[in-house]
Amino acid sequence: MFNQEILMQAIMESRDSITIADATLPNYPLIFVNPAFEILTGYLKEEILLKNCRYLQGLDRQQRQLQDIKEALHERRSCLVTIRNYRKDGSMFWNELSISPVFEKTGLLTHFIGIQKDVTARIILEQRLIEERKLLEQSKATLEKLIIYDTLTGIYNRRYFEDQFYSHWEYKADANGRLTVMFVDIDYFKRFNDTYGHIAGDEALKKVASTLYKSLRRVGDFVARYGGEEFIVLASDMSQKQAISYAQSICMKIRELEIIHATSPHGFLTISCGVAYFKPNISKAPKQLLHQADLALYKAKEMGRNQAAAFDTSMESDNL
Ligand code: GH3
Ligand code: MG
Ligand code: MG
Repeated sequence: MFNQEILMQAIMESRDSITIADATLPNYPLIFVNPAFEILTGYLKEEILLKNCRYLQGLDRQQRQLQDIKEALHERRSCLVTIRNYRKDGSMFWNELSISPVFEKTGLLTHFIGIQKDVTARIILEQRLIEERKLLEQSKATLEKLIIYDTLTGIYNRRYFEDQFYSHWEYKADANGRLTVMFVDIDYFKRFNDTYGHIAGDEALKKVASTLYKSLRRVGDFVARYGGEEFIVLASDMSQKQAISYAQSICMKIRELEIIHATSPHGFLTISCGVAYFKPNISKAPKQLLHQADLALYKAKEMGRNQAAAFDTSMESDNL
């Protein structure tokens, strides 16, 4: 047997809170709440009947989803929202509220049926998951930075340079097949540290790195910290002549920083620079080009430092 009594019992025993509001009266007052509503909100039915359901929002009226309710009621359609509500004791709960309009056969809107569920545990879990995902993304970004950048100077690190250079090195050249590799090494840096301390040494490294970075001319040009006080610069779109004068200009820029270095014969912090120039069809391997730049750097050091030297074949040893 199925009758009104059984239906009423279902409503009265439902664990979800069920409310009915009168849609024909201004402000849609509640005319029915089931016991689950009383348990959920802490209000007795006598305290809440004839009030509008928004009573449960207290002063927390700046909720985006309240606008959704307003629009749905205005358009006489159902809606499902999750909003913050407050119990009689002031404690907040997340209310998953569904509202459905009831129409007479004539089309007259007579009631709204509301079904409320406490979904606080789910929302807290979702918020925690969002927080954790944010933290994970931040750690991932930090790790990605560590993989690519040198922590002291902020420019690319050697690992990233090698990754880029060895795997894409043929693309590093410009349309005319031109690519310059420069090894940069700070002169008498051990003495600098010994004279001014390691912290001053670190500061000098940062200044050199930032000056090298600012000296880059083309979009694809690249500078990385190669080792302790060594840097590597990749530059495209330069003739051999332009490459050497670019390297000399870098040496000048560092000297012009006027970082005092009393134990260097130059009086200021300086760099030496070894330049090697990629030749299509002749340069065989990226390693060879680096080796040539290294030999040129050695020559610049030998010639007195604070200068650039370009690789030439007379520097090449037999075993290359
Ligand atoms: P040269 O002119 O021949 O290049 O002489 P140098 O003293 O610069 O070269 P050397 O290789 O003898 O010394 C390099 C020094 O660089 C030794 C080391 O203390 C210093 N150095 C390397 N990495 C760092 C760093 O991260 N911070 C500081 N402050 N010093 C560093
Ligand atoms: Mg060195
Ligand atoms: Mg050095």
